[in-house]
Amino acid sequence: MDIRREGFSVIAGPCAAESREQMLETARAAADGGASMLRAGAWKPRTSPHSFQGLGEEGLRLLAEAGEATGLPVVTELVDVRHLELVAELADVIQIGARNMQNFALLTAVGGTGKPVLLKRGPSATLEELLLAAEYVTCEGNDDVILCERGIRTFEDAYRYTLDLAAVPVLKERTHLPVIVDPSHAAGRRELVEPLSLAAAAVGADGVMVEIHPNPDEALCDGPQSLHAEDFAGFAERVKAAAREPQAA
Ligand code: PEP
Ligand code: MN
Repeated sequence: MDIRREGFSVIAGPCAAESREQMLETARAAADGGASMLRAGAWKPRTSPHSFQGLGEEGLRLLAEAGEATGLPVVTELVDVRHLELVAELADVIQIGARNMQNFALLTAVGGTGKPVLLKRGPSATLEELLLAAEYVTCEGNDDVILCERGIRTFEDAYRYTLDLAAVPVLKERTHLPVIVDPSHAAGRRELVEPLSLAAAAVGADGVMVEIHPNPDEALCDGPQSLHAEDFAGFAERVKAAAREPQAA
């Protein structure tokens, strides 16, 4: 899946699939706003074992159903090789999350499915390590990998992570793979998502991936960083317009 075919790509969805209603409502907002893909977590890698872990297979099926209802391809995270068959069957793109960027068994396994892979940079990984992780997938004969900058861990604690936007042009120097930016997990709060998305467009990213929710205050996961679904269309329009503006050389 070459996400660059459609120009700047905006991938959107809730952090986690929570219910049929929530998924369908979010998917409609994503589709109406011109999203290129719908994303939701079914198995969530949470820092605390006491946090909501996702609906598992049920969540995956709700995501697939919402994708079908709106005509959007779907992406979800694979956290465990035991779910590979099911995820490969129901998702169009398989996400490998930041925490699993160097889970080499998982990378090799997804590479073997031939499905497009969205690979997130680990919060402490160098760009070289990210590129080598991508090679675990490409070594299986699968060149369909999208790289995703999602913030790295620094001393700064004013936001969740530090979005490393320099990663975008540097990755583009070093690889032909598409590079997208996830400002939601980097920032941890909604107000920063649009300015960081505009900045991602300005540094030449191929797209952004953002969290949206019909009712972020009630979200079971990552509500504070989720855009209101009703605001998505305006957001997407402004960011796509910024991506079309010619950049200074
Ligand atoms: C996610 O994309 O839902 C997620 C958990 O992000 P990350 O792997 O970047 O922490
Ligand atoms: Mn999230």
